[in-house]
Amino acid sequence: MHVMLGVSEYYPLVKVGGLGDFAGSYARCLARKGQRISVALPGYASLDRSRYPVEDTGIRLHVPISDREVSASVSRMRTGENLDIYLVEHAGYFDRPELFGNGDKPYPDNAERFLFFSRCILELLKELGDVDILHVNDWHTAIALFYLEEYYRKLNLLEHVRTVLTIHNLGYQGMFWHHDMHLLNVGWQYFTPDKLEFYNHINYLKSGIIYADAITTVSPTYAAEIQTPELGFGLDGVLRSRSENLSGILNGVDYREWNPWTDKCIPARFSPKRMNGKDKCKQALLAEMGLESDPDRPLITMVSRLADQKGMDLVLPVFDMIMDLDVQFLLLGSGKRELEDAFRSMEARYRGRAASWIGYDECVARRVYAGGDLFLMPSRYEPCGLSQLYAMKYGNVPVVRMTGGLRDTVTDLDEGPDRATGFGFEYYSPYMLYETIQNAVTVYREDRSSFNRIAVNAMEADFSWDRTVSEYLALYRRLRSQR
Ligand code: ADP
Repeated sequence: MHVMLGVSEYYPLVKVGGLGDFAGSYARCLARKGQRISVALPGYASLDRSRYPVEDTGIRLHVPISDREVSASVSRMRTGENLDIYLVEHAGYFDRPELFGNGDKPYPDNAERFLFFSRCILELLKELGDVDILHVNDWHTAIALFYLEEYYRKLNLLEHVRTVLTIHNLGYQGMFWHHDMHLLNVGWQYFTPDKLEFYNHINYLKSGIIYADAITTVSPTYAAEIQTPELGFGLDGVLRSRSENLSGILNGVDYREWNPWTDKCIPARFSPKRMNGKDKCKQALLAEMGLESDPDRPLITMVSRLADQKGMDLVLPVFDMIMDLDVQFLLLGSGKRELEDAFRSMEARYRGRAASWIGYDECVARRVYAGGDLFLMPSRYEPCGLSQLYAMKYGNVPVVRMTGGLRDTVTDLDEGPDRATGFGFEYYSPYMLYETIQNAVTVYREDRSSFNRIAVNAMEADFSWDRTVSEYLALYRRLRSQR
C-alpha cells in the first residue's frame, strides 16, 4: 500500500502550527512502522532544504488555472526508507516570506495558490501511478477530492485511489467569493450546495467533506462537536450527513522530538525521576525574559497563536485578578494585532512579573514549556491541541478549557491527585478560568507534593503516535478493500 499525504506544512521543514507537527510526526511514524508513505508539499522559499538531499525528479506538471496552463517542477527529498517528500515548485506561488499571508492578512491569491497545489497533487499521482490512498489535510488540499471525483474518475483515471480528508481545524475553510470560480476551470453547474457552493461562496473544505471516502478529525470529542451548530461553523449539517464516514483519531506526539531529557534548546535536562533540571530551566527562563526570581511564585505560561479560538478573551478581562494571586506570567505568541498589543501593555504594567515575547520561535517555545509551572490553554474550541501535550511532557501543568482534544487529553484534579494531569473547566467564562487558576495556584503553594505528583503524571502520560497510528492504518486498509 502506498499512501500520499497532501499537506501545506511539514515539521521540521516548514511549520506555522500544529498541522506541520502532525504531518511530520505522523509520516515518520508510519514510515518507521514499515508503511510506504509519500508527502506532497509546496516548495516554499522558507522551507529548510538542508535537512535532506534534494533532487529534481524530472517530473513536470501542467494544470489549468482559469484560462491559462500553469506548470510546476517536482523535487524530491529522500528522507530514508519508506518516506519521500515531493516538493511542488513554483516560484510565483511559493517564493514568499510567509506561507499563508502577511501577519494575520491572508495572501489575496490563496484560492489560486492552493488550487494549483491541490491539482498538482493529482497530476503527481498520475505520474507516480501506484498510490493507493490519498490523504489530504484541511482546506489547502481538500479541493483535490472534488477534481478526483468529477474530473479524473470520469476519464477513468486514478480510479483505484481511495481518499481520506483530515480536518485539523474547521474554523479555516478556504472560502472564496464566487468571482473566483473562473480559476477552477469548471462550469457553473458545479457551483451548487451539494458540490462547491456554501452561501454563495466557493468552499474548498466543504468540497472535501462531500467527496472524501472517509473523513477524520484529530480527536474523538472534536468529531462529535463539529456535528453540532455551536462548533460546526455552518458545516455541521454536511458533516452530520456524512457521520457514518466520520471519525476522530487523536493526534500523537513524536517524543523523540519532544523530550526534556534530550532537547537541545533547553538549558538543563530533566525527567520524572530527575527533576532538578526543571528548576534550572525555570530560573534561566525568568532571567532570559527579564522576570524576577522567586521560588514561591508559580510561573504561568502560554505558547499560542494569538487568535480568537485560543480563548484570549478569557485571559485579558481577568488578567489583573490573576496577577493579584502573586504569580508570574509569560506569553509567547503572535497573530492578531490587537491581542499582541494587549499583551505588550500587560508586560509594561507588570514589569518584572509579566512578559510577552511577541513572535514565533521554536527554541523559545521549548524553553517556555520547560520553564513554566502552569500552562494556560483556555480555548474556545480545540480540535486536538498539541501545545498542552508538549507542556505536559515538560512538566508544565496544563490549565485548560475542557473542549475537543483538551478534554480527551487532560485529566482534571477532580479525579484525584494520583490520576490528575492538570486542571480543567467547562463553562467558557473569564471567571471560570480565574477560579481554575486560583485553585491551581493554591495547590502549588499549599500542597506542593500533590502539585508535583500532577506534574509527574502529566510527564508520564503517553500520547505517542504508537497509540493511534494503527487506527489510520486500519482505515486505509478498510478503504482499500472496498475498491
Ligand atoms: P494550533 O495548530 O491551533 O496553533 P496546536 O496546539 O495544535 O495549535 O499546535 C501549535 C504548535 O505551534 C505547537 O507546536 C506550538 O509549540 C507551536 N507554536 C505556537 N505558537 C508559537 C510561537 N509563537 N512560537 C513557536 N511555536 C509556537
